[in-house]
Amino acid sequence: MQTKKYIPLAVNGGIGYGAKLKPKQLAVLGQYLEEESEIELTTLQQLIVQIPEEELDEVKRRFDEVGLSYYKVGKFVKNIRTCNFCKGEEEEGMPVAKELNRRIAGQEVPFTLRPAYTGCPIGCGEPLINDIGIMKDQDTYELYIGGLSKGRDARPGKLVRANLEPEELYDLVDRILDIYRENGKKREKFYRFVDRFGFEKIIEELEAV
Ligand code: SF4
Repeated sequence: MQTKKYIPLAVNGGIGYGAKLKPKQLAVLGQYLEEESEIELTTLQQLIVQIPEEELDEVKRRFDEVGLSYYKVGKFVKNIRTCNFCKGEEEEGMPVAKELNRRIAGQEVPFTLRPAYTGCPIGCGEPLINDIGIMKDQDTYELYIGGLSKGRDARPGKLVRANLEPEELYDLVDRILDIYRENGKKREKFYRFVDRFGFEKIIEELEAV
């Protein structure tokens, strides 16, 4: 007998005012999950679900219909963790967070990479303790890399550049991911890569273009 194959997907309600799900989204999720299957709730505002391979296309279509976002699980850039945008969508740059997420989430990298975004310097999205952190301040953006939230080595990320316009921000993040892909060792965590390759060298490479 052939064993059924399952594909893990990381699911959430997309970038909005806080990490929320609607009843109709939960209903669709329940429709495709088997009774005994487990749903893992991660610290990245995601639910990890196991979808039978033969139902994957239909499931993705239904998720799209009800506004569920879904991402690959593994050595990819995760969806951007965000703050709750308490002061308003435009003021806190939600469109920029969404566009950046559209560009980078799911990109293949040497090890799972966690980006975070926060709409003001209060920093509820915790950008400084994630691999790549973005903080909006007034009308521009600051970009940090190399933060770590866990263990004895926990530390804040370092500032790559401040006063960025959205297009400059997208471009810098793209190039940082390229540098990591080209120079990172297999399964090398991003903060370790920043230490081994060198923060200053990353800055030099960014300035060289
Ligand atoms: S980081 Fe600022 S904008 Fe975002 S939820 Fe916190 S206080 Fe509100």
